[in-house]
Amino acid sequence: MPNARDRELGMDRPITRRDFLNGVAIGLGSMAASSILTGCVGRTSFEVPNVPDPAENYPPAAGGMRGSPAGSFEAAHALRDGTFWQTAGSPVHTDDTYDLIVVGAGISGLAAAHFFRKQAGASARILILDNHDDFGGHAMRKEFQVGKRRLLGYGAQSIESPSRYSPVVKGLLADLGVETQKFYSYFDQNLYSSMKLGSGIFFDRETFGEDRLVAGFGAIPHEQFFARAPLSEAARRDLVRLYTSKVDYLAGRTREQKRAILDKISYADFLTKIAKCTPEVLPVFQTRSHDLFGVGIDAVSALALYEAGDDYGYGYPGLDAMLGAAGSRGTEKTDPYIFHFPDGNASIARLLVRSFVPDAIPGHTMEDIVTAQADYSRLDGQQSPVRIRLSSTAVRVRHDGDPASARQVDVSYVRHGKLLRVRGRQCVLACYNSMVPYLCPELPAAQKEALVYGVKTPLIYSHVAIRNWTSFQKLGVFQVAAPGSYHVYAALDFPVSIGEYKFPSHPQEPMVVFMVRTPCQPGLSEREQHRIGRVELYDVSFETLERNIRDQLARMLAGGGFDPGADIVGITVGRWAHGYAYGYNSLFDPDFAEGQQPHVIGRKPFGRIAIANSDAGAVAYMDAAIDQAYRAVQELAQYRG
Ligand SMILES: Cc1cc2nc3c(=O)[nH]c(=O)nc-3n(C[C@H](O)[C@H](O)[C@H](O)COP(=O)(O)OP(=O)(O)OC[C@H]3O[C@@H](n4cnc5c(N)ncnc54)[C@H](O)[C@@H]3O)c2cc1C
Repeated sequence: MPNARDRELGMDRPITRRDFLNGVAIGLGSMAASSILTGCVGRTSFEVPNVPDPAENYPPAAGGMRGSPAGSFEAAHALRDGTFWQTAGSPVHTDDTYDLIVVGAGISGLAAAHFFRKQAGASARILILDNHDDFGGHAMRKEFQVGKRRLLGYGAQSIESPSRYSPVVKGLLADLGVETQKFYSYFDQNLYSSMKLGSGIFFDRETFGEDRLVAGFGAIPHEQFFARAPLSEAARRDLVRLYTSKVDYLAGRTREQKRAILDKISYADFLTKIAKCTPEVLPVFQTRSHDLFGVGIDAVSALALYEAGDDYGYGYPGLDAMLGAAGSRGTEKTDPYIFHFPDGNASIARLLVRSFVPDAIPGHTMEDIVTAQADYSRLDGQQSPVRIRLSSTAVRVRHDGDPASARQVDVSYVRHGKLLRVRGRQCVLACYNSMVPYLCPELPAAQKEALVYGVKTPLIYSHVAIRNWTSFQKLGVFQVAAPGSYHVYAALDFPVSIGEYKFPSHPQEPMVVFMVRTPCQPGLSEREQHRIGRVELYDVSFETLERNIRDQLARMLAGGGFDPGADIVGITVGRWAHGYAYGYNSLFDPDFAEGQQPHVIGRKPFGRIAIANSDAGAVAYMDAAIDQAYRAVQELAQYRG
């Protein structure tokens, strides 16, 4: 029975999640068979909950726990734990031989299929396997139906700084008909400011002693802003100094010397040791780096934060006066942060899939892809040269003989509790690189070691559909940093209208709120923090997440009259236990020599198998996923001679 607080929060209200237990549908008719089956041919013995067949359901509208939901990871974890083959029988062979098998239907795997087709011809037979019930990997689409209105959410958020993309990536976008310049008219950069909605910070009682939302960050003078915050006088004084003074804390050193110092000191230490701030300012900044790095300012260098900048505009004060303002950043982002499809980069994945299987997603343009309804029953059609097979976890990828002379690669995979095998002339592993040693145990030991070096960032992207957004309007905010809360950032959706998709531009209309959390353990190295955060992610129940979301929105937006029970109409959580690709951290990782970085050693081709994924570039962006796919396909082409 829900207690009084749960009732206030609306935990007993009917939203999509009521049919879901940890994101897995229960009690529905069209279930795939459970796989608690042992030992016999084609069967596996670990436990996988019932999951609906994507061909009979519509995954983007699933709601509840998404990202890495139950049913998507059990086979891989059994493989990692060494228990998978103890009871698995022999795989059952299916299908004729493919020209290419791709493991992973994320942007990298889909891009690999695209590049392979360009080289080998559109009739090349390609099979793409993915463990999820949807394609796109991180670039996954979320849909909400609020009354007659369909609203979209996303996994991977935006096309980031496209003017810096390589010719290969620009070429792929052009092939798909994506013209990034159009976002200058599709993204309404003035909507929120014209409504006088700006940025706020929510100070929570557990961290700051009382709940208080302070609006007007950047719009009112910093002195006034921080005077309203529940902070000590010393903290307020230092925060105002950081944001307003132009002090060069490393005066007398060259720019290179300053960069070298800031490369080896965390931003937390910079604040207290170099800028001499009171430690009381730290909780205000601690989680600001979470969205981009997955760890707090204790574990990210001041230089890395300076170079990365802050897409949300809160900034990392104190650095510009030493190194120069935005224009002088070595890795400056040259584009505004506006290249956003309403379903994020899922539109890129969907455009790729449409180019392979036109029958599955109607339409022809970057505009109509946004509202096109995908027919999942057509993705794995026998007649289609490219087949996309979902809910299929690869567990073994092996040459049929000596890798130097073998003519084929066997790929075993688990689908709905059955162990199956397909054969291809070549294979691209576009899955998480740390999974590759388990798939190909015969790789050289040094390569396997290199492949597991990077630890992907665990993170949660939650999307909450609300009846209207009058509470945000009353409070004068469209985005709120919440440094001590469960989700460290919450914002109204990006104001983008494309084709028939119209952004909810009036506060009375339903809206999707985006929230982000990256669990970690301050004080440890980045890789250790990610490992610990991942455990939390796999352990957390949807009920806990829902309660935290409702509680946080209720407290943050209380002054605007937000009622979590009445206002929340849908929640979809993107739980990404294996999120961003690991990029090296100058505080903890050695300065690897060029060519000796683990991701370079790890991605070496192995006979007829090449390795892609953004992990192979050690960069957590879409363009890296595409560039790595291109490299992998080039390696296979060279192998073919
Ligand atoms: C929440 C989030 C937000 C992001 N936002 C942005 C953004 O705004 N802009 C940006 O450029 N980048 C963003 N990224 C980075 C994103 O990782 C890349 O842009 C890109 O989408 C990665 O594509 P990928 O194909 O390399 O990897 P993935 O998307 O991870 O795809 C790999 C696929 O392989 C599957 N797989 C793994 N093992 C197996 C197996 N054994 N068998 C079958 N399938 C397997 C995985 O489940 C996954 O579906 C974001 C990432 C996350 C997690």
